[in-house]
Amino acid sequence: MDEAIRKVGYVGLGIMGEPMAMNLLKAGNAMTVWNRTPGKAETLVGAGATLADSPAAVAAEVEVLFVNVTDTPDVEAVLFGEQGVARGAEPGLIVIDNSTINAGATQDFAQRLAGQGVTLLDAPVSGGDIGAQRGTLSIMVGGPEDAVAKVRPLLDVIGKSITHVGPVGMGQVCKSCNQVACAGALMGACEALALAKRNGLDLDKMIEVVGAGAAGSWQLSNLGPKIAADDHAPGFMIDYMLKDLAIVADLARANQLPLSGAALAEAYLRAVAAQGGGRLGTQAMGQALERLGAFTFSD
Ligand code: NAP
Repeated sequence: MDEAIRKVGYVGLGIMGEPMAMNLLKAGNAMTVWNRTPGKAETLVGAGATLADSPAAVAAEVEVLFVNVTDTPDVEAVLFGEQGVARGAEPGLIVIDNSTINAGATQDFAQRLAGQGVTLLDAPVSGGDIGAQRGTLSIMVGGPEDAVAKVRPLLDVIGKSITHVGPVGMGQVCKSCNQVACAGALMGACEALALAKRNGLDLDKMIEVVGAGAAGSWQLSNLGPKIAADDHAPGFMIDYMLKDLAIVADLARANQLPLSGAALAEAYLRAVAAQGGGRLGTQAMGQALERLGAFTFSD
């Protein structure tokens, strides 16, 4: 790492942001943090981080500032709100956005920050809360080469696979590709399990043998057993997958590209959410198949 980078900020200490900030702190960086609900910073402050009273105050303190909040308007609020990052930033600051948001908006934010000498990198992640805790996330980074090289040692602390995929915004495009592939694999897993169940085939045996062959997927091997056991605890919540698939749909519309698989997966997940399941894990997509096919996985 450029040894000069020691003062690091983290804004947004949710399920993902809190453990990622903790890993950066444990790696020896001087951490200044902020969260809209300040109580969520307690563990980090207990471990030695400094709690600032606004994103602007974090920006004024650090050389590299991570953002990890929910959606596009939330990133805009923490960057450009009354007490946002832009208010406190000095030229030379590098902002790394780990949130999953709209690629076009990201490019717009980058342009606005560039006006004051601040570089924005988009660096959405895949790997869930467990990957965040273990520092094993896959990180898809968009932005200028020199800034990416400068912060790579910090990204190495929070991720296992760091890929510079292109200019700013391309990280978010890559994350949309990731969600399209996840949604399709999840739908395939649910349909395979439904077929097995309706024919009296042992679900765990099917998952084992099919998962080891050409049809194997993370979704089938990790979420398949949960679907079979009616375990709908999140993991990754349906409401967040719907947020991401709405981002995908916007991009596909702009591209005039018919992504029918992603659209169908979105419809199944929306049906589960409409029945109160938005905070369940994405494996609860299986409930849509249960209702359509008049069966249950667990009986
Ligand atoms: P989360 O636990 O709900 O945390 C969201 C964070 O954003 C909280 O710190 C929240 O503050 C903050 N926030 C939201 N709106 C805000 C606003 N307008 N102003 C200021 N702060 C705001 O969510 P998460 O799971 O950490 O997800 C964060 C991002 O990572 C999302 O874009 C998500 O799609 C992405 N992601 C999540 C996963 C996963 O498995 N969870 C995996 C990959 C990517 P409060 O504490 O005050 O609510």
